[in-house]
Amino acid sequence: MSLVTYVDLLVIGGGPAGLSSATTFSRLKRTCLLYDSELYRNQGVKYAHLISGFEHSNPYEFKLKMKEDLLKFYNDTFEFRSGKIINLRKLDFNKGFEALDDQNRLINAKKVILATGLKDKLPNIQGVKEQWGKKLIHCIFCHGTETANAPFAFLLTRENASMNPKLVESMLKLWRSLNHTEKYILTHGMDVETEQGRKDAGLEDRYDLLKRLGYKIISTPIMSITETSDGKLMDIKFEDNKHLEVPAMLLFPEGFSANEHATPLLTEDFLEDKLAMFGTIAPPSKEMSITGLPPRMGDDPRTNVKGLFWAGNSGSAFANITISLAQGQNAAVMAGDQIGEEEMNVL
Ligand SMILES: Cc1cc2nc3c(=O)[nH]c(=O)nc-3n(C[C@H](O)[C@H](O)[C@H](O)COP(=O)(O)OP(=O)(O)OC[C@H]3O[C@@H](n4cnc5c(N)ncnc54)[C@H](O)[C@@H]3O)c2cc1C
Repeated sequence: MSLVTYVDLLVIGGGPAGLSSATTFSRLKRTCLLYDSELYRNQGVKYAHLISGFEHSNPYEFKLKMKEDLLKFYNDTFEFRSGKIINLRKLDFNKGFEALDDQNRLINAKKVILATGLKDKLPNIQGVKEQWGKKLIHCIFCHGTETANAPFAFLLTRENASMNPKLVESMLKLWRSLNHTEKYILTHGMDVETEQGRKDAGLEDRYDLLKRLGYKIISTPIMSITETSDGKLMDIKFEDNKHLEVPAMLLFPEGFSANEHATPLLTEDFLEDKLAMFGTIAPPSKEMSITGLPPRMGDDPRTNVKGLFWAGNSGSAFANITISLAQGQNAAVMAGDQIGEEEMNVL
């Protein structure tokens, strides 16, 4: 028979969102158990930016410090377990949630925070996975600055056709101030000599301007991406056997899905809703923000299920580390508030 651990809060996921939830909740001197299966979205990234006070820090060490602080300051109420939650269900009669881990241990939690992250969908080009977060970058604020004053490439793919016009606008509005010495646009088989090719590549409106500004457009499909032998450049090999060597390239993911360790938990049955676009947990309110996306920047950590909350990329695809930290706090405050209210009602 399995032993059951009873806790006030179960946090699933030990990225920035989960660790921040646990830190905040621990301030209440209530019991908190955190599980982490260590499949982080930014796995392998050496330096993260935009974390005030920790600029250009190793994201793994940053998480390690958060975990060490939790164990140092809150070891009377906080427990960390390395492992995976493989099943989660809501119990009847307001008895909270029951979770099962990969070692067959049961957990009974009054509240649960899903801080399970997400997964980026990358184009199926040889070498992309290996370079992701290294020389292949997705965000100017996270890693773009370091590419300034050197050659740079922008990769546009057909699967991203709906996003490409926005990416092209961002090249002109944001990336130009980095003064890349040579600028390449790779359209991976979208023939910009045709109207359809330009449309798919998002270049319809800005083609002439980009040409005038000196952007070189290469339409040939990419065969593979590797590193040069000195590790300094990315070697992009095309189907016509030509090569391009650049220090770095922008690639926006072709989509997102829930972290694969969390997929078995995030069922429609359990969440009482389908996953939203990007594989994220749907908000209880279906209102859209002005961007047309669900209101997802930390304003509402609830889900459709009472007592179940989200934080970080599990519910918000565009949350960076700082925003995930803030969302973790929000979710923990609300979980603590709910427990307190339920206790108060029976005083
Ligand atoms: C290439 C790249 C570079 C980036 N660089 C930056 C940067 O420089 N600055 C910045 O601010 N942001 C950056 N980001 C964004 C950053 O990675 C995310 O904002 C952040 O990781 C979100 O934190 P999270 O806690 O929501 O998810 P994650 O960090 O992905 O953590 C989720 C955790 O939940 C665990 N988990 C999932 N399911 C289960 C389960 N069933 N049981 C137990 N554990 C589970 C996973 O294993 C994982 O450990 C970058 C992202 C990418 C892809």
